[in-house]
Amino acid sequence: MSVEKLEFQAETKRLLDLVVNSIYTNKEIFLRELISNASDAIDKLHFESLTNHDILGGNEDFEIFVVPDEGSKTITISDNGIGMTRGEVISNIGTIAKSGTKAFLEKIRESENKDSEQELIGQFGVGFYSAFIVAEKVELITRRAGENSAVKWISEGSGEYTLEDCEKDSRGTTIILHLKEEFCGKDEFNFTDNYVIENLIKKYSDYIRYPIKMNFIKEDENKNKTVEVRTINSMQPLWTKNKSEIKDEEYEEFFKHQFHEWEKPMEIFHTKAEGTTEYTALLCIPSHAAMNLYYADYEPGLQLYSRHVFIMNKCKDFLPDYLRFVKGLVDSPDLPLNISRELLQQSREVKKIGKALEKNILKQLAKILKNDREKYEKFWNEFGKSLKIGVYNNLYDEKAKDDLKDLLLFTTSKENKLSTLAEYVERMPESQKKIYCAVGSSPETISQMPQMELLKERGIEVIYLTEPIDEFAAEAVKKYSDKEIQSINREDFELDDEESKKEKTVAEEMTKSHEDLLKDVKNAIGEEVFEVRLTSRLKSGAVCLATAAQGPSLNMEKTFAAMNNPFMKAMRILEINPNHEIFKKLSGLHALGKDSAEFKDFCKLLYAQALLIEGIMPNNSVEIANKIADLMTR
Ligand code: ADP
Repeated sequence: MSVEKLEFQAETKRLLDLVVNSIYTNKEIFLRELISNASDAIDKLHFESLTNHDILGGNEDFEIFVVPDEGSKTITISDNGIGMTRGEVISNIGTIAKSGTKAFLEKIRESENKDSEQELIGQFGVGFYSAFIVAEKVELITRRAGENSAVKWISEGSGEYTLEDCEKDSRGTTIILHLKEEFCGKDEFNFTDNYVIENLIKKYSDYIRYPIKMNFIKEDENKNKTVEVRTINSMQPLWTKNKSEIKDEEYEEFFKHQFHEWEKPMEIFHTKAEGTTEYTALLCIPSHAAMNLYYADYEPGLQLYSRHVFIMNKCKDFLPDYLRFVKGLVDSPDLPLNISRELLQQSREVKKIGKALEKNILKQLAKILKNDREKYEKFWNEFGKSLKIGVYNNLYDEKAKDDLKDLLLFTTSKENKLSTLAEYVERMPESQKKIYCAVGSSPETISQMPQMELLKERGIEVIYLTEPIDEFAAEAVKKYSDKEIQSINREDFELDDEESKKEKTVAEEMTKSHEDLLKDVKNAIGEEVFEVRLTSRLKSGAVCLATAAQGPSLNMEKTFAAMNNPFMKAMRILEINPNHEIFKKLSGLHALGKDSAEFKDFCKLLYAQALLIEGIMPNNSVEIANKIADLMTR
C-alpha cells in the first residue's frame, strides 16, 4: 500500500509550530479537546442516523475509549462516531477551516512579543492540534460510517504528514499519541497513568453525553488479574440538575467544553419553565464578542435537546438574529426527536420558547444595568452593537423597540460618558423639548464640528453617534419618553428657545433675499449639492453640510456604499454662515461676475471644506489641493 506524503497548509504549519514550540501552561487540555472532537463526531453520526438509520450498521452503543499505556508511552483515544473519508482527513486535519482558530492566528499575528503569544495560545482551544502539545508523533486511523475502507494519517507536527490506506474493524476514529518523554514519568503530568487520566476526564469531560470508558486492571485474592471497563463520566446533563446544586465553576467548565469558549461567560441564564410549554434553557453571554460575530461565517443558534437527547447544533429559530451572541442550549420534551430544520422553523413551540427566552434575556440585562453598571458597560462594549441592530431590525415593531430602548447606551457630550436615554432625558432642562444627537467618527470630531458650537454655547447635551449603526438605531427609536430624537446634522434641526427661532427666521429671510447668489453658488459646485442656504446654526464656523430631514444621511450613505448599494444617496445641503467674513468675500466675488474662475473656485473650496468637516473626501481632491496651493501662494 502506497504512502502518500502531503504538506500542511501554510496557516496550519504556523499553528503547529506555535503549539509544538510554546510553553503551554495547561498541557492537559489536549485530552478535553480530543474527547470533545470524539463527542462531536458521535453527535454527527447520531444526527445523520435520524434520517438514515442504516448508517449505524446495528451498532448504536456510542462510546469513547481512552487507553493510556506505559509500555508503549502512548495514549489512545477512540470513538465510534462518524469517522472521516480520506478527503475529509485532508480537508479537516490538513487545513484550518475553523473561524475561531483563524481568528486566533490573526490575534497571534497582531501580538508583538513572545510572551503575549504564549498567553494567547493558552487561552484558545486549538482543537485537534493540541495533541502536539504532548505528543511527538500522532497517528489517526479513521473509517467513515457506511464505508469499508480506512485511512491512516501520521504526523510529527512538522510541515508534513503521511496518508495511507489501512485496515480498521469498525467505523470511527482512533487517535494514538506518542507522548514526549516528559509526559511519561512525572506525577501529575504522567499521561500514561490511568489515574491521572481518570481525574482529567472527571474534571473536564464529566458532562460529555456519551460514556467515556477506560480499562482498569483488577486483582482478585488469588492475584489473578482481570480487565474491568469503567465509565468515568457521570453523563448527567448539567442543566437537569438544580441550580442550587451547581457550582459556578461547573457552569463555567460546561460552557468552555460545550461551546468552545476559552473564557468563563460574562453571564449565565439557567431557566426552567413548566406549564403549557415545558423547557429548560441554559444560556450564556460570552465574556467577549467573537471576532466574526457580525460576519456571514458566524453561525448563531442554540443547541437543541429533547428529553436530554441531543437533536441538533446551531438551531437559529429560537432567538432573533440580534441576539446572535447568546450561546447555549434548550431542552424541551415538547419537541419531537426527529424534527427536521424545515419543520422546526414553523414549530409553534419553538417560537413560543424563543419569545420567552428573548424576554428573559432582556429582563436580565435590564437588571444588570440597574444593579451593576460597570458590568453592564462591559457588556455594552462587547455587544452593544447587537442591541442597536435589534432596534433597527424592529423598525416597525413599537413593542419590541420599547423593550430595547431602555437598554441602549450612548456616549454624550457630558463628560464623554455612556448614558441611557432615560438619564439624558432626566438631565434635560425644562425648556429643552428634543433629544439632540450628532453624527461623526469620534466624540472628538463631533465636538469640534461647527454645528456643535451653538449647542455648547447654550449648554445643551448632545448624544454622539459614532458607530455606523448608531444613527440607524437612533432614527429607529424616533422618540423616547415623548421627546423626539433630532439629529443636528439634518436640515430640520432647530433649537426651541425664542432667540434661536428668531435667528432662524432671519437666516431664512436672508436666504430668500440672496436667492440669485445662492443659486449661482450651487451651479458652481454642481449636481452634488441639492441646495445652498444661509444658516443661523453656525457661530464661528463658515460652512457646514446638512442633509434633508428624510432619507439617507451622509453617514448612512457611507454605510450603504460599503454594502454595495451606491444608489442610496444623501440629499446634501450646503449651509453658509451669513455672519462670517467668508460670506462677504463670496458676495464680493459674485458681484464681479458669476462666471469668473475666482468665484467658481471659491464656491468649490467652500463645499470641499464642508465635506472635510464631515470626514468625506472630495471627489475632485487633486483639483481642490491645487486650488489651496494657489491660494497659499497668492
Ligand atoms: P473543531 O473540532 O473545532 O472543528 P479541530 O481542529 O479540533 O477543530 O478539528 C477539525 C475537524 O476535524 C473537525 O471539525 C472534524 O471535522 C474533524 N475531526 C476531528 N476529530 C475528529 C473525530 N474524532 N472524528 C471525526 N472527525 C474529527
